[in-house]
Amino acid sequence: MAGGVALFGGSFDPIHTGHLIIARSVAEKLDIERIVFLPSGNPPHKPTGLAAGIDHRIEMVRLAIADEPLFTLDEFDARRDGPTYTLDTIRHFAGQVSHAEKLVWIIGADSLVALATWHRAAELVDACRIVTAVRPGWTSPDLSVLKPTLTNEQVAKLRSQILETPCIDISATDIRHRVRNNASVNYLVPDAVRRHILENGLYREGETESAD
Ligand code: ATP
Repeated sequence: MAGGVALFGGSFDPIHTGHLIIARSVAEKLDIERIVFLPSGNPPHKPTGLAAGIDHRIEMVRLAIADEPLFTLDEFDARRDGPTYTLDTIRHFAGQVSHAEKLVWIIGADSLVALATWHRAAELVDACRIVTAVRPGWTSPDLSVLKPTLTNEQVAKLRSQILETPCIDISATDIRHRVRNNASVNYLVPDAVRRHILENGLYREGETESAD
């Protein structure tokens, strides 16, 4: 499908090379003209709070995507009150694109199996095209875990939108641990993001929630 917009939401705590590579890969494979990164202000799946404040997470996304014309940053999910529900995001952006069916929401494989726990998951599946980025050779898990929240048709729709992307074994959790332990995060994050983390003392030991 030519054109279209893909939304990529996440806590981005911090954004890392894995996010960037799969976003680029999805754009190429689906011929997407714009990927919108949406740092989440209050992700419902991370109720214990985030390590870095929203202003730092936004700034790290901004630094990470600066040289990529396909990528943009939007603060819609960052500045809302209450839990950042994806369905609200989709409804907001659906009004901005000409064909709602072209609106893609990108997730990783770990998010696919947890989709039944998302706010109004069935409506969300109907409202957009959820593309799951998986590593090559990845074997789909038993998606019956998504029932009875989703119908057979909805599960089939999700399964048909699984897309093979490079396997990048990087997680924000690991990056935070590495910073805390004074280990290098070279190449795991873009260099400008690495400098932002170090210069602002993010993810150091004893940190709870850093100020913005
Ligand atoms: P954390 O380790 O803190 O849980 P994360 O690295 O998974 O963070 P998020 O910001 O929570 O990063 O991820 C946003 C989205 O990107 C999620 O849908 C997640 O599944 C996906 N994702 C994150 N890292 C990868 C990766 N290396 N490969 C594929 N998808 C990924």
